[in-house]
Amino acid sequence: MKICESVSLKGLTTLKIGGVARYFCRVRNEHELQTALQFSKKKEVPLIILGGGSNVLLSDGSISALVAKIDIKGIEWRESKHFVHVLVGAGEIWDTLVEKAVKKGLWGIENLSGIPGTVGAAPIQNIGAYGAEIKNTLKWVKVLDTKTGKSRRLSNKKCEFGYRDSIFKHPKGKALIITHVALRLKKSGTPNLVYKDLKERFKIYDLGFKNKKRELTPAVIRKAVIGIRSKKFPDLRECGTAGSFFKNPIIPKTQFDALKKRYPALPGFPLTADERGYEDMRINADADESLRIIKDKGLKIKIPLAWLLDNVCGLKGFHKGNVALFERQPIVLVNTGGASADEIKKFAEKIVLRVRKETGIDIEWEVQKIY
Ligand SMILES: Cc1cc2nc3c(=O)[nH]c(=O)nc-3n(C[C@H](O)[C@H](O)[C@H](O)COP(=O)(O)OP(=O)(O)OC[C@H]3O[C@@H](n4cnc5c(N)ncnc54)[C@H](O)[C@@H]3O)c2cc1C
Repeated sequence: MKICESVSLKGLTTLKIGGVARYFCRVRNEHELQTALQFSKKKEVPLIILGGGSNVLLSDGSISALVAKIDIKGIEWRESKHFVHVLVGAGEIWDTLVEKAVKKGLWGIENLSGIPGTVGAAPIQNIGAYGAEIKNTLKWVKVLDTKTGKSRRLSNKKCEFGYRDSIFKHPKGKALIITHVALRLKKSGTPNLVYKDLKERFKIYDLGFKNKKRELTPAVIRKAVIGIRSKKFPDLRECGTAGSFFKNPIIPKTQFDALKKRYPALPGFPLTADERGYEDMRINADADESLRIIKDKGLKIKIPLAWLLDNVCGLKGFHKGNVALFERQPIVLVNTGGASADEIKKFAEKIVLRVRKETGIDIEWEVQKIY
């Protein structure tokens, strides 16, 4: 494996922002990952992992680290009676995997069509869209623990998935690099139409046309999802973006009720029991408080940030310099051309402050900042 010096990362991120890495390599297998780890230890520089660069804001100065782009390939399909188990290298492209699964008629990840990036990064923020999340099909991941230098498996439960969250974003999981992901897909299934846009698209199938429902194959769902997404995200060929820049806020019901009085049209979605588990543990440092909240169903409400930005903060169409909120989906931040990392950071900070001022809510970045 070749380790190069002074490599520009700008072309390796979808925001089209990135400085020069002191060292850079492409890792094609676990052995090369070990070599990269040893090299970073010897040179006493951090090891930074990059997948497709679609969820990062990189510094555009010099990055004193070894940046390793994960290129571990390979997809193995193993059939059992009702399922197909898929073992995938972390460097495979997520949407290519979805396309292949859908072609085989397999159920489980069709709603996650069209999400950019690699398979290995998908569990990091528990990618989700249109009522599905990777945690619903993920069995385990194989990781290299950079502290011990050893590989091991981590079960779905041990990944501590939450809304755009997992153990990998927190101190106890930060040293883990995902090399493989194992998913369990269903040979037969029913469409997941919980999400509003999909429900509306396929309304006819919900109106008693039972036979018609059979026509809803994973391929039909994938096509619809890609069609809907093409209207919600900017074209990556025309501008830079990392998709949703912020997470939708999750707030206590009491706070939601107070806001709802001020803004009666404010939409809100109570977290399901499944979603609540680790979310509550993290939101509340106090253990007793966490337990109380877990017992008390529906106490946390997720609200669409896009709605707040448009209707409460008056930020529809907001832009400054080379950065803008995407008109059709204001939670998406766009580099309209030549924006610096600092410009993006300052713009994002403005949004955070405005939301706090108008609503009292502290919003969090979804995008990972690597400075
Ligand atoms: C247009 C657009 C639409 C999007 N839509 C969605 C969406 O609908 N739903 C959604 O959830 N996300 C969405 N995203 C965000 C993004 O696509 C996902 O988060 C994706 O999983 C990131 O993959 P990546 O390979 O590009 O990761 P990168 O951006 O390269 O890395 C992201 C983070 O993961 C770490 N990382 C990457 N690979 C590994 C690994 N193998 N082991 C350990 N750490 C690793 C990196 O260090 C970094 O901290 C969208 C992004 C864009 C640009």
